[in-house]
Amino acid sequence: MKPLRSEDIAERLDKIRSTLTGGARLVAVSKFHPAEYIKMAHAAGQRLFGESRVQELVEKWEGLRERYPDLVWHFIGPLQTNKVKYIAPFIHMIESVTSERLLLEICRQAQRVGRTIPILLEVHVAREETKSGFSPDELRELLGRIADSPETYRGVALYGLMAMASNVDDEAVISGEFATVHRLFDEIRSSGVLLQPELFTELSMGMSGDYPLALREGATLVRVGSAIFGDRA
Ligand SMILES: *Cc1c(COP(=O)(O)O)cnc(C)c1O
Repeated sequence: MKPLRSEDIAERLDKIRSTLTGGARLVAVSKFHPAEYIKMAHAAGQRLFGESRVQELVEKWEGLRERYPDLVWHFIGPLQTNKVKYIAPFIHMIESVTSERLLLEICRQAQRVGRTIPILLEVHVAREETKSGFSPDELRELLGRIADSPETYRGVALYGLMAMASNVDDEAVISGEFATVHRLFDEIRSSGVLLQPELFTELSMGMSGDYPLALREGATLVRVGSAIFGDRA
């Protein structure tokens, strides 16, 4: 694979940014790509990046933090509870909170380092069983427990929902899933169950293959990797 030049990355970023509507923001997913590409994207004005592996993220964060202190990191991938401690000191948002056990560990590690960590709860709407996240009913139950016992969940701030659509060609299916997540988001926001409803503003949906559909269905964050940085090795 031929390495990308700064101009390639800048051009792709511009193209995607030009499609962002209503204040939606781009999470540039840099997983599996070198720090060099992050620097190029930074030069093109990108600040928000998504990573999905703890060790890779920690290495990039350590390597870039001094010269690029304004980088913003979202964790978007499967997160093992025993690895939360490595990202708790610096992560700006964990989008992929897929279980109560993980949530409680994030609370624990956030308190240990004296932070409040912004999170999104991941909702499972896709057809694939391999995808993870809370079902809508599990999500409602969890939010009920949080409302009943807020002190158990100190250390996190709930900013919204994250979801992945099915990996299918049928755009109606994908849009339908995004719409389902948006309805759930609206339901939760107006349910009175949230401790800090004013924070609950983010709907992270859409990747390289489907972000235009996600934007149409109300995404506020789109997570785009290969359309910016090319195929992953
Ligand atoms: C890798 C990844 C993305 C980006 O995928 P692309 O198809 O490369 O845009 C988005 N979201 C999650 C959760 C990912 O793991």
